[in-house]
Order: sequence, then C-alpha cells, then structure tokens
Amino acid sequence: MIRAHTIRLNPTPEQENLFRQAAGTARFCYNWGLRVIKDALNQGVTVPTHRALRDAFKQIRAVEYPWTFTVGKSAIDGAFVNLGRAVKNFLDSRSGRRKGKRIGFPAFKSRRRGYGSFYVANDRLTVDGHTLTVQKVGALNMTEPLRFVGKILGATIRYQAGWWWISIQVEVDHTPPTHTGPAIGVDLRIKSLAVTSEGEVFENQKYLKRALRTVKRLQRSVSRKVKGSANRQKAILKLAKAHFRVACQRKDVLHKLTTALVQQASLVGIEDLHVAGMLKNHRLAQAIADGAWAELRRQLEYKASAFGSRVVAIGRFVASSKTCNQCGHVNDDVTLVMREWDCPNPMCRVHLDRDLNAARNIRDEALRLARA
Ligand SMILES: [Zn+2]
Repeated sequence: MIRAHTIRLNPTPEQENLFRQAAGTARFCYNWGLRVIKDALNQGVTVPTHRALRDAFKQIRAVEYPWTFTVGKSAIDGAFVNLGRAVKNFLDSRSGRRKGKRIGFPAFKSRRRGYGSFYVANDRLTVDGHTLTVQKVGALNMTEPLRFVGKILGATIRYQAGWWWISIQVEVDHTPPTHTGPAIGVDLRIKSLAVTSEGEVFENQKYLKRALRTVKRLQRSVSRKVKGSANRQKAILKLAKAHFRVACQRKDVLHKLTTALVQQASLVGIEDLHVAGMLKNHRLAQAIADGAWAELRRQLEYKASAFGSRVVAIGRFVASSKTCNQCGHVNDDVTLVMREWDCPNPMCRVHLDRDLNAARNIRDEALRLARA
C-alpha cells in the first residue's frame, strides 16, 4: 500500500537556488516534449512515447542544452513521466477510453504560475529524522520527520505559497484488519458537512468562512497596489498563503470526517453524486465544491483499505430523502428546505429528521448492494 507524506522544508538560500534550477529544468523538459507532441499531432504522425522523447532529449542535451547538467537526472526523467501521463489522459479522453469530463490538450508550463516542482528518484535521496539529503543539493531540514515506515518509492519537491515542500511516497507493509464495526450511511449536506445514519453530524467549520473573508480582503489589497511594484509582489504572496490556508483547512475537515467514518464503520455507504449533472444548480454546485466531494471519496477509499473497511456508493436514483426509512413510503412532497417531515402513510406516521432518514436509507441500500 502506497502512502504519501508532505513535509515543509527549510532549505538554505543556496539550496533554494538549486531547487529553482531543478524545477525550471523540469518545466523546460516538459515544454520541450509537449512541443514535439503538438507538432506530431498537427502533422498527423505517430505521437512519440515519453521514453522516446526522453532519449531524444538526452541525445541533443550535451550540445543544445548543456545547462541542464547542473540538475539531477531524476528531475528530467520525472518531467517526461509527467508529460507521458498528461498526454495519455488527453488521448484516452479524446478516444473515449477515459470516462468523465473531457480533458483538453495539456498546457505548457509557465514560470508565471510559480516555480513548479520536480521529481527525485528514491536512489537520490535519504531521510533520517528531520534531515533530508538530496543528491546535488545536500542535507537540509524537514519541519517534521517522515510519518511512514517502509520503502521510499520517490518524492516530489514543489514550491507553494512561499514555501518549499517535499511529498514522499512510501510503500507501507500493511495487512488490513478485520473490521467489526456496523454499516453506516452518510448523507452529504449543504449546511452541515455530513450526517451519518448513527445521527452524528459533521459541521463545515466556521473558521473556513473567516479565512475566506481574509482572502477577499487580501484580493482587494492586491488590486490596489501598482502593477509590477514590490508592494504588489508582497501582497500577492500574502494572498497565496491565505489561499493555501483555506485549502489546508478544507482538507483537514475532510480528513477528520473520513477517518472517523472508516474507524467506526465496516461498511460506509455514500451517494454516488453525478457531480457534473448537479453543477447546473448553482447553489448546490457551491456546496459540492465546498464539500469537495471528489476529495472526500478519494480519502474514504484509501483509508477504508487501511482500516479493513469498505466503501459502497449507491446510485443517485435512490430517493434517499423522500423515502420513509420505517415503512418505505415515498413522499414526493419533501423539499430541500424541509428539515423534518411526518410520514403520510396512515399505518406509519413516524416523525423523521430529513438528513438522518436519508443517511439510514443510504446505509440500507449500501447493505443491500454489498450483499447482492
Ligand atoms: Zn413511514
């Protein structure tokens, strides 16, 4: 099982310089290869593989781009691997082999969008406590030690929000335990983040709103500064950090929810939202973007495998909000704004909390699918 840990780095100014060079070279190689692919597509000839591109680049490198030799080999290899993946996604999407939203032709990487990132192969780095040693860069401090024990597969070093970060992929030995918890259904909601069939409510944190207000204030601050001025640069960095903070807080909220779910439940039932279809409704779209549904699903899946739990997504056609969990009566009068309702079936008449009822329906449907 592969886990990744992202850690902030404290490089010296000289090391930062080397990072920028490596990221710049990776960007250059990516764009160089992308240009070749674009030309091949325009001429209708076979698109070269990323390995062929890498080898072609190495042939001309010494003569045409000797400055790329100051950078570790894996930064260049990694750039071609990334390019290969981006091009494959594009070609698969175009031919229909890849499902979901159509993916456009990969964009050229621009320095304007930050320094970017570069790959470091596992034979070019070592980790010991707080110390990271990278070939051609030397030893530097990590703000925390690597969380996972296992074989390091590789790492990506990236610049984001004014800091350098390393994301280390580790192959972790893991036999999932047998989970003895109950099945739990989860109803994802607009105001609260989620309601479970056990009646537990996970709130969308209030501080997120406060952080968003800060972002708005900093946006205004940037727009008031003179273009190209040092003050504008400072304001832009502040804004980038605020954006980054919001992203971290959002992820943190989701991590708490998904960890709690897979710890408690041997089976987690969720609705398989067709996000694209729901994006037509703007208010719902905002809520889904905020709740970051895809990220939630991703976290649930990988954590479930660690805890020996299982995720079952049920189809959207299940009228989870409108069906009485007690008797199965479908009440078409239930609307999005109704928090509670009474079952109109004269034999039942049970009083229902809309979200809790929905979560129980989702749980039961997930259980039925799991048995089938
Ligand atoms: Zn009923």
